[in-house]
Amino acid sequence: MPSKTNDPSKKSWLPVAPDSDFPIQNIPFGVFLTREDVITIGTRIGDHAIDLGALHQLGYFQGIPLTDDIFLQDTLNDFISDGKKTWRLVRNRISEIFDIDNPALKEHQEHRKIVLFTLDEIEMQLPVHIGDYTDFYSSKEHATNIGTMFRDPENALLPNWLHIPIGYHGRSSTIIPSGKNIHRPKGQTLPKGADTPQFGPSKMVDFELEMAFITTDANKLGESIPIDEAENYIFGLVLFNDWSARDMQKWEYVPLGPFMAKNFASSVSPWIVTLDALEPFRVESPEQDPKPLPHLYQKGKNSFDIQLEVSLTPEGGIPTTITKSNFKYMYWTMAQQLTHHTSNGCKVLSGDLMGSGTISGSTPDSYGSMLELAWQGTKPITLENGEKRTSIQDYDTVTLSGFCENSGVRIGFGKVETKLLPPV
Ligand code: MN
Repeated sequence: MPSKTNDPSKKSWLPVAPDSDFPIQNIPFGVFLTREDVITIGTRIGDHAIDLGALHQLGYFQGIPLTDDIFLQDTLNDFISDGKKTWRLVRNRISEIFDIDNPALKEHQEHRKIVLFTLDEIEMQLPVHIGDYTDFYSSKEHATNIGTMFRDPENALLPNWLHIPIGYHGRSSTIIPSGKNIHRPKGQTLPKGADTPQFGPSKMVDFELEMAFITTDANKLGESIPIDEAENYIFGLVLFNDWSARDMQKWEYVPLGPFMAKNFASSVSPWIVTLDALEPFRVESPEQDPKPLPHLYQKGKNSFDIQLEVSLTPEGGIPTTITKSNFKYMYWTMAQQLTHHTSNGCKVLSGDLMGSGTISGSTPDSYGSMLELAWQGTKPITLENGEKRTSIQDYDTVTLSGFCENSGVRIGFGKVETKLLPPV
């Protein structure tokens, strides 16, 4: 069990501010470029990034079965393939090395110089090579809002929605790390009242407040993962902004679902927070009625209390918080999503990324997209500087953040931040 790393009383010899997302109980994994232009796998405590490749070379992971170059790679895929037992051994060891009472590295100035970086000395990269990307549609409030707007308020949820976690296969080539800007996409739309479509820059670019989980090698082709085992194949979670062009989406989505309205960009936060770190924040997911079929049925606490927030910053302006939501509002759990995904024998690999779907709460200030917040343009949002928004404008920056908190411990995800630039 990971209980030792979760101990709320545990302290590190590295400084950690009280509102930091990265206390010694977090120990996330990421990939960064160092001041010497070397790519390495690392973790983070407070505002220090820790080079795990260097720690391994210096012998700090002795006794743990790891290949010599496991952390000297530009993605986490091979480490994730090593499986849950190894992730735990490594996190336990990091927790020991940085424990306030452990002098080994704390008092070894030479090693400290090699292993530790301040955040301004590094550049975070995409943490995994994403082979396949699937996006779900698992918030009942979001699906109801979209169904109400795009179709029919009386039948907002389609008949299958309460029985299977609806999803579609997305495009991994356009998943980008936080900090990388994107351009307004061009595409085909059918303007209101027009009877022929037109091609040009989207007029309704939107964010989607999501989280995504990253898997390890889960099954052989043809095998299914039982619901009770599904979480064993989840490495961890990131914040996920699934950029969307609503005018393109509305025109293209029938009959096969999202395509060009979604595949121009999706942004991820750089640090993957493990399920073990999130363990103290388990909560029950919303009651499911009707009861799912036996292969998807779960009891107990299968969700996590993760407080989420989105802010919008116009060029040269100050940020405005435009929504606050929570991961625990999701109707379908990650285990149900992964079990459903493999229920037909579909193969899931290390580094696959599964988006939760937009996470909306039940109140209008907790909706997870601008489409819902401004209700299809009918209720503009007012920013701190007085400007109004019904969609994301050129040079706006959208920032997603998220954290869990209880027993005096805060485990967070940092942020994922993207600026929208004019069309190319
Ligand atoms: Mn989405």
